[in-house]
Amino acid sequence: MSEIRYQYDVVVVGAGHAGTEAALAAARLGAKTALLTTNLDTVAQMSCNPAIGGIAKGQIVREIDAMGGVMGQAIDATGIQFRLLNRRKGPAMHSPRAQADKKAYQWWVKLAVEDQENLDLRQEIVSDLLTEEVDGKQRIVGVSVHGGVVFAAPRVVLTTGTFLSAIMHVGETKTPGGRGGEGTSSGISAALKRLGFRLDRFKTGTPARINYNSIDFDQTELQPGDDEPQPFSFLTEKLSGEQMPCHITYTNEKVHDLIRDNLHRAPMYSGEIDSRGPRYCPSIEDKVVRFTDKDRHQLFLEPEGHNTREVYVNGISTSLPRDVQDEMFKLIPGLERAQIMRYGYAVEYDYCPPDQLWPSLQTKEVAGLYFAGQINGTTGYEEAGAQGLMAGINAALEGRGEEPLVLGREQAYIGVLIDDLVTCGVDEPYRMFTSRAEHRLMLRQDNADRRLTPLAQDRGLITPERWQAFSAKQQQIDTALQTLQSKRHQGTLLSDWLRRPDSSWEQMCEWAPTLCDASAEAALQVTYDLRYEGYIARQQVEVERQKRLSYKRIPESFDFSRLTQMRNEAREKLGRIRPTTVAQAERISGITPSDIALLLVYLDGRM
Ligand code: FAD
Repeated sequence: MSEIRYQYDVVVVGAGHAGTEAALAAARLGAKTALLTTNLDTVAQMSCNPAIGGIAKGQIVREIDAMGGVMGQAIDATGIQFRLLNRRKGPAMHSPRAQADKKAYQWWVKLAVEDQENLDLRQEIVSDLLTEEVDGKQRIVGVSVHGGVVFAAPRVVLTTGTFLSAIMHVGETKTPGGRGGEGTSSGISAALKRLGFRLDRFKTGTPARINYNSIDFDQTELQPGDDEPQPFSFLTEKLSGEQMPCHITYTNEKVHDLIRDNLHRAPMYSGEIDSRGPRYCPSIEDKVVRFTDKDRHQLFLEPEGHNTREVYVNGISTSLPRDVQDEMFKLIPGLERAQIMRYGYAVEYDYCPPDQLWPSLQTKEVAGLYFAGQINGTTGYEEAGAQGLMAGINAALEGRGEEPLVLGREQAYIGVLIDDLVTCGVDEPYRMFTSRAEHRLMLRQDNADRRLTPLAQDRGLITPERWQAFSAKQQQIDTALQTLQSKRHQGTLLSDWLRRPDSSWEQMCEWAPTLCDASAEAALQVTYDLRYEGYIARQQVEVERQKRLSYKRIPESFDFSRLTQMRNEAREKLGRIRPTTVAQAERISGITPSDIALLLVYLDGRM
């Protein structure tokens, strides 16, 4: 029987949050792309919390949107509760978050994929990675799927999430699978090991889902959405869908006693799981052990959509056995009669330590092979979507013979994310925080389009509609700034008035009525530009210093073992991570200024 073979420019494996953004981006750039995934009914499925955004993650979604990705539009179209978090703090901390109608979200993304030109979505289980040796180096040439069919492509993006050699745990019970009700992917782990990749293991967990009708809401606190919800996408003018409230309840000492009594049955404590989980998103058993001074933990009851009664119990992720989960709910106010629809569980899976990647997300080991999402040791839909977007862009750009698009730490949270991953690796599941970004006043959620849309336009990533909307807003900002810098009130320039924290845009409009023509978004940009001018100028000085080091490139073929005068530890680290610029080398933990000075001497040919 002759082999069935399909030819593509880019093949993306896995249609989760990373895979869908990767495939859409590659196809938008004109690459003939295949998106292969185990099950078409789980495209862009939210494995855990039915929510998008949150602190630092909301900023990432705005950046994905500013570059033409779909996550922002998908949540705007299907969100059921929108809130701007940290509203009382400064603008660098403002972070949009929304609850999603989980199924509607998936269908929205699936339709976007189906409608995308140059993109074929196929239900296939990928079982092997195909490579050839070219000039002594492995190069990807495609993948094979169950049934022996080959999808040939010079570029492959792997986004298999939590599915590599995955095992799910509920108490003493272990089942192979990367997500409740689904299987695992063992062929890819074996292929990666064969190709010389290091693999490691992480774990994550999820709480039970319960039936809305079985909750006594009188015993809970109401948490409504914002009165004037803010969209995620720069293309959405107004959110129209009906908002649903969330509710809050708490654990108590009785629940904690029950957990303590059954710790020996929790896989994390019985020794069944020894891989690391996300520290900032601990299971309830971890919380009880680690925070002994707390007599209660907050739980959010989050509805999963308009057409389901399933409610996600945020804050009580667990892998305790079913009987303990049953008992636990009976002790929580409002949940005494809760009907559990899906039990909580933990999942252990393989990931590839991301210091094996170039900043383009291409692997160092195999040319043309890219990794994005949870396979890189991250956690979260937003982190996955961002990496998918960049890997898809870079796979397509490489196919066109163009330089990769690598965002700087001063340009985007996405730049911080990828630089952290490839420079420092991970020792626990990585999630984004505002504290990871040293230039966070520049990386605000409100200005993501001004930072990134022009870059995306240059690469042909966005639609004319987005570019027009952006240009119109920029025009309004420029006009308003000119007015403020030329008109005076009581002898003082309006721009100086607006710098004062107690002034308002409405006041400026009274003094210069043409300012009323600016949209609310443009007015906000002008206000922040003026009020934070001094801080931003100071950050810019540091950015320029870093840039000077970034321009100093280290050739891909540079032999770090030549640095014989360098400390062994530093030489070994640089040789393993193979930074591409001096600025990246400087950020590797344990690399000192004197190591950098020595590296510069070598790069300048002085040694
Ligand atoms: P996924 O969304 O997992 O998508 C991977 C896709 O690849 C799937 O569609 C799968 O079917 C497909 N695939 C796998 N193998 C193959 C193959 N061989 N061939 C073809 N297709 C394949 N994140 C948080 O931020 N907080 C949490 O608390 C949290 N808890 C979680 C709990 C659980 C139980 C799980 C499973 C995940 C949790 N996550 C959590 C993580 C979050 O779901 C992921 O970070 C995010 O979905 C990763 O996106 P991804 O695209 O990398 O992978």
